[in-house]
Amino acid sequence: DAKATNKEEGFWRLSKLEVSVDKDLGKDEIGVSDGVLEAIAKVLEFPVASLLPPEAFTVVRKSFDARKRLKEPKFVYTVDVDVRKLLDLQPRAWDFIHRLEPKVGLIEHMPNKAVSGDLISIIHDCKREIVNQMGARPSQQKNHVKESYKFTSTKKPKIAVVGSGPSGLFASLVLAELGAEVTLIERGQPVEKRGRDIGALVVRRMLQSESNFCFGEGGAGTWSDGKLVTRIGRNSDGVVTVLKTLVHFGAPRNILVDGKPHLGTDRLVPLLRNFRQHLQELGVTIRFGTRVDELLVENAKVVGVKVSDTKSDLLFDNQKLDFDAVVLAVGHSARDVYRMLHSNNVELVPKDFSVGLRIEHPQELINRIQYSTLANEVCKGRGKVPVADYKVVKYVDEEGTDANSRENSRSCYSFCMCPGGQVVLTSTNPSELCINGMSFSRRASRWANAALVVTISWKDFDSLGFHGPLAGVEFQREFERRAALMGGGNFVVPVQKHLLIYSILALVVDAPPSSYRLGVKSAELHDLYPNHITEALQNSISMFDRELPGFISEEALLHGVETRTSAPVQIPRNTDTYESTSLEGLYPIGEGAGYAGGIISAAVDGLYAGFAVAKNLNLYTGSI
Ligand code: FAD
Repeated sequence: DAKATNKEEGFWRLSKLEVSVDKDLGKDEIGVSDGVLEAIAKVLEFPVASLLPPEAFTVVRKSFDARKRLKEPKFVYTVDVDVRKLLDLQPRAWDFIHRLEPKVGLIEHMPNKAVSGDLISIIHDCKREIVNQMGARPSQQKNHVKESYKFTSTKKPKIAVVGSGPSGLFASLVLAELGAEVTLIERGQPVEKRGRDIGALVVRRMLQSESNFCFGEGGAGTWSDGKLVTRIGRNSDGVVTVLKTLVHFGAPRNILVDGKPHLGTDRLVPLLRNFRQHLQELGVTIRFGTRVDELLVENAKVVGVKVSDTKSDLLFDNQKLDFDAVVLAVGHSARDVYRMLHSNNVELVPKDFSVGLRIEHPQELINRIQYSTLANEVCKGRGKVPVADYKVVKYVDEEGTDANSRENSRSCYSFCMCPGGQVVLTSTNPSELCINGMSFSRRASRWANAALVVTISWKDFDSLGFHGPLAGVEFQREFERRAALMGGGNFVVPVQKHLLIYSILALVVDAPPSSYRLGVKSAELHDLYPNHITEALQNSISMFDRELPGFISEEALLHGVETRTSAPVQIPRNTDTYESTSLEGLYPIGEGAGYAGGIISAAVDGLYAGFAVAKNLNLYTGSI
């Protein structure tokens, strides 16, 4: 019947297929193994798994589930079934597959759109639309963007994208693909030179203020764990587009499938080189070592920027560059940019963020806590089982004790957990000290680190006498300065074993070793933050220990401080056009503007901002 015919043409999605570790090929394999076929056969009640054709199935998600209530950890798959192919290769399967229809949640009829949200095809569709609208002949469609633009204007719009982090890169990509003349301005260095500058920092304590863990090609997340998890909807078109684009530039395909995808620094660096080459082939001018110091404003509209050379040769200073629009993708560490915007009366609104400390444990301990006996399978990132991570969150009330609801409470949570990683210095100024974590793709180091942070708001800024739009920035700087003093200078990080307030018992006499390369010093970290923040942290650590028994350990070490969890400011912008609400021609995007928190969400914001800016400048007429 018609209903059945329709179904025979579609894709069916089977989820929650469980495969035990001994039957799985391992964390990096995303093919349809015998173990996966067995799980499919079990769900279909198909008698002989080996008679199911692997070609009819595609793995769309693979996660490792090690929750405590499970008897044993296992891999959990989501698989799409190409029903036509399955029935062609194994006609008997229909007798089994159609019976599953009533099992809601287990099987779902998918529209036939296995490839959706591919950036390259989205952009090509947009170009086609423009060409069609302009009535171009088919022969002109080869060169569609350039040709189509000639119809619309005598001059291509000139756009500056400031910052080459994920948001700036994706905005540049979309704008260049749509035919704008893009100049990508980056205060830091290309990844090759940036890598050498970071090497000099880690080995010789030489901090380059413009080329470091925060500034340079790829932005803040380049020397990072490269986690690609996001809270903005894993299957949304924007996220899928970004992930596919990363694969296009060299990321392994399993990031499309992995439940917790990550890249690691060693994979991010070559990927960024490919990204750069593609932008240059599209005609994007990339100016590394060039810092935007000022906006040029005429008649209440941005008409360009003033830039300086940040390289040692200082070839230019206060150079004026004209642009039709300026996309500001500067990240949350460009405090000079926030000040410059403030002095130009651009609206800035203080925003809640989180501060705290970074805790480090031996990775083996975290593996044991999470996997118990299966911990042996981890084997320095080369084993079948992924290196263990954790994510904890608790709400505490004003007294710092367990809060039953979110109302009037602070959330305390682990953040940016780096399994098999190391603690790194993310200061951009030698008198301030802040840290974060990074790892390589195998996550093979002996250490597991994560930030433990508490949300703070304007009330906290106010209580320390910091007011106005930049109060949050001042709050961050205050505690970064205190941390630098506690460490005694030279980027030495203050550490403490346990966060016991009013007690010196926690001071480290025999400090457990740390992965941080520039040295650690025992300090009274419990004196660093105001008491209510320290108490919230202390109590949440006790609660985390209940969830992860062994988390409080003689081998654990707290490092100070983690202050740059997200932007302390938001730059209000128009929801549809992405243009600043207070200054025409300025487009604030990404994490620094308060619209993203992580690599993927920043990239997605850049992607949509690219379309919005193009639309404003009549390069694009479709929807965003
Ligand atoms: P950024 O990446 O910060 O990029 C801003 C760029 O603008 C920088 O390159 C900067 O040099 C440039 N710039 C600033 N001012 C100027 C100026 N005046 N002129 C010219 N250029 C300028 N997120 C994850 O999702 N997963 C992770 O595993 C992860 N790990 C991290 C590890 C570390 C060590 C750090 C520091 C961050 C990590 N993050 C991680 C956060 C992530 O990096 C950011 O959320 C993301 O990079 C934000 O992207 P963005 O494009 O908005 O800004």
